Amino acid sequence: MIPFAKISALLFAAAAATACGGFSDDERRIINGGEGEIMRVLTTADRDDSLTLRRISAPLDEKAVASDDFAVLRRRMLATVRNPLNEGVGIAAPQVGISRRLIAVQRFDKAGEPFEFYINPEILSVSGEAEEGPEGCLSVDGVRGSVARPRRIELRYRTERFVDTTETVEGFTAVIFQHETDHLDGVLFIDRMERAEN
Ligand code: ZN
Repeated sequence: MIPFAKISALLFAAAAATACGGFSDDERRIINGGEGEIMRVLTTADRDDSLTLRRISAPLDEKAVASDDFAVLRRRMLATVRNPLNEGVGIAAPQVGISRRLIAVQRFDKAGEPFEFYINPEILSVSGEAEEGPEGCLSVDGVRGSVARPRRIELRYRTERFVDTTETVEGFTAVIFQHETDHLDGVLFIDRMERAEN
């Protein structure tokens, strides 16, 4: 017979393993909560949302990426960025209240312009002249403005199969990667904006 103290220690160990391997209970509530597929997009107009948008997001590990919760989050983030009423070309997990290093980017440099997901993305280097271009954000209502960004980046990330990958991306798609990766460090395009557009 296993003493009670030992059982509770084992249960505690199991719970701790779940918490550090997968998503937390709070994250699971957001991922699986609400009605329908489209998630609520956090905006700077709300104080609590703003604080979440300004947080540094945590990396995802292989166990979290293999979980059912990840599959649901991925599916719902895609539905959210493709919402015809509030459409975007990219979205980052913190924008739906999940402070994790996960982004979706529309690949305008690929045939069919698909949305693809990137885990723990980092921009290793940038090159080329910074060019100004108009940007907006699902989390910043009613503001568009000009941001100068390099048009060529060296990117490192994990694929959805958690394969460590590096890739060079150019053009407008490179701009989207920079915008979305910024979100993971609590940076918004308005921080980098040269001037607002009327
Ligand atoms: Zn944004």
